[in-house]
Amino acid sequence: MDLYEFQGKELFRQAGIPVSEGRLVLTPQEARDAAAELGCPVVVKAQVLTGGRGKAGGVKLAISPADAEEKARGIFGLDIKGHVVHKIWVEQASDIAKEYYLSLTFDRGTKRPLFMFTKEGGVDIEDVAANTPEKLAKLHVDPLEGFQAYQARRLVYGAGVEDPSEQKQIVSIIGKLYEAFIRFDAMLCEINPLIVTPDGVVKALDSKFTVDDNALVKHPEIAAMRDLDAVPVQERMAKEKGVTYVKLDGEVGILGNGAGLVMSTLDVIALAGGKPANFCDLGGGGDADGVVDALEVITSDPDVKVIFFNIFGGITRCDVVAEGILKALDRIKLTMPIVVRLDGTNAEAGRKILADAAPANLYVQPTMLDAARKAVELSR
Ligand code: GDP
Ligand code: MN
Repeated sequence: MDLYEFQGKELFRQAGIPVSEGRLVLTPQEARDAAAELGCPVVVKAQVLTGGRGKAGGVKLAISPADAEEKARGIFGLDIKGHVVHKIWVEQASDIAKEYYLSLTFDRGTKRPLFMFTKEGGVDIEDVAANTPEKLAKLHVDPLEGFQAYQARRLVYGAGVEDPSEQKQIVSIIGKLYEAFIRFDAMLCEINPLIVTPDGVVKALDSKFTVDDNALVKHPEIAAMRDLDAVPVQERMAKEKGVTYVKLDGEVGILGNGAGLVMSTLDVIALAGGKPANFCDLGGGGDADGVVDALEVITSDPDVKVIFFNIFGGITRCDVVAEGILKALDRIKLTMPIVVRLDGTNAEAGRKILADAAPANLYVQPTMLDAARKAVELSR
């Protein structure tokens, strides 16, 4: 789960990482009031779940409450890479002498948390990594040994920070970032820019914070931060119904039982020259309720032209799945074509049940490849 800047900064604040004081506002008038309360100048910042807000005109300095109101009016409703601004964070403006970059993420290759730190902050970190990799200090943390203070010093010296007061503050922030990462079960914590003010104070001016979805049960206060309005309709529906759903960019809606089978289904659709629109994983079962839930989620995606139902009966019996599909189709009327591949335990019986009773828009195919070809053909 990605957090907004203001939410990430709240977690930073709780972890003892210095951030500026600010207010979340929902109207230009509230932005004016917040600016008056905080004292000017302030920065007026679009809250959207994407980066690059500054370049897109979503971050503006305001010199007075009236100015903050005007800047907020210009930012509300702005479309930043497909994210429309409904929330604005107004914070006390900082004077900036230097912009650094600090992040902590998972390096899946080494299976360890990875710190990255550079004095070349404020810009795209990918550019620094590509063009001047020697300026990017990297350090892995052994999760069993835990984080050690010498590692923070190595990062700070490695990136060439020379001022002793800066060194001390950044070493402290690095330690606190690690604590926050562990405490809140983060997948990513990024501070870009980590600034140094003209009087030498280091603080986090931005926050990118991603929390592991699987850990949200441990953090109800973070789970409650989820902004349902920012979640696409299908994903919200899938969450409510407990269906595993992933959106993709093609035309074939995929429904399978089991993650491995679903992954192979994506491949076989590609092999047949098509593109999946999304996929749902029914898990082990195939009862009518599960099928109805998954079909409702899949078909609410307007990109879907055809549904590919790929079921392998292992523990689940194909005749039971076939009954489930028919019951589901009784309950929700679908006009789009549905291609079904049933194989495994009681496959013959299952296929017969479908062949005898199925509506005209349902096509039963014996193999995965045949079914994929049929689905791709029907999607055109
Ligand atoms: P991003 O563009 O989405 O990464 O948003 P940031 O929060 O990083 O803001 C973009 C840029 O706006 C920063 O790199 C700063 O240069 C500038 N900025 C943000 N806050 C302040 C501030 O308090 N004072 C000044 N002078 N500039 C700021
Ligand atoms: Mn930034």
